[in-house]
Amino acid sequence: MTAAPDSSLATLWCPAPNRETRRNGLPPDMLILHYTGMDSAEAALDWLTRQESGVSCHYFVDEEGRIAQLVAEQERAWHAGQSRWAGETDLNSCSIGIEIHNPGHDFDYPDFPEAQMRAVEALCLDILSRHAIPPARVLAHSDIAPGRKRDPGEKFDWERLGRAGIGLWVPSAPLEGDAGLGPGDEGETVAALQRALLEFGYGAEVTTTYGTGLEQVVEAFQRRVRTASVDGRGDKSTIATLDLLLASIRTMA
Ligand SMILES: [Zn+2]
Repeated sequence: MTAAPDSSLATLWCPAPNRETRRNGLPPDMLILHYTGMDSAEAALDWLTRQESGVSCHYFVDEEGRIAQLVAEQERAWHAGQSRWAGETDLNSCSIGIEIHNPGHDFDYPDFPEAQMRAVEALCLDILSRHAIPPARVLAHSDIAPGRKRDPGEKFDWERLGRAGIGLWVPSAPLEGDAGLGPGDEGETVAALQRALLEFGYGAEVTTTYGTGLEQVVEAFQRRVRTASVDGRGDKSTIATLDLLLASIRTMA
C-alpha cells in the first residue's frame, strides 16, 4: 500500500485493515456515497479502521469537512456489502467508497453542513479527475442496496453535485397528487416502470407485478432523485422524473 493518500485533499491517512486487491484487476469505474449512520465521527472513523467491523471505505469526511483516506484507491475496500447495479454484484471491486459522517435516519438525520458538502464536492471532483467514472455510476449506497440501505438519504444534496459535474441530476417533475402504482398492482404500466428502473441500472426484475422488491427500488430512486416524497409508489411525478433521467443519459451516450 502506498504510504501517502491518493488525494491531496486528505489531511489524514488512517490505514484500514479491511482491504484487498480488486478482484477484477481493473481500475474503479464507480463512486458510491454513504453516510456513516453513527452518532459521532470519532466512533465512525474508529469502527471503519477496525478489522472486527468487517467494513472499510476509501475516504471519510467529517462534519467540518476534514478528509481522511483509509484505503488506497487501487485497492478494494469493504463498503458496498450485498449489492447490485447494472447486473454486477461485486461492487466493492469496481468502486471507490466515501463515508460521509452523518448519524442518519436512526439518529434524527441532521442536515449535511456546508463545510462538509464543500469537502465532499471537492473530493469527488478530485477522484473523477483520476478515474474514468461515468456520471450515471456516481451513486448512493441506497441505489445499489434498495430495501437494505437508506444512505446517504434524501437530505443529501445531489443537485449541488450534479451542477458541479458530479453524477446525474435532473429537476424533479412536480407532484400531481395521484396515488400512483403500488403493491398489488399488475400489468403493462408496472412492467414499463420496472424496465425503466432496470435501464438506469437498478436491480429491478420485470414481472408485471408491483411487489416489495419494486417498492424498495422505487423508494431508492425517490431518495436519490425525486426527493419530494419518498413513499415507494410509482406516481406520475416519479415516472416522469425517471423518464427525464433516462433521456439525459441517452443524450450523453
Ligand atoms: Zn452505506
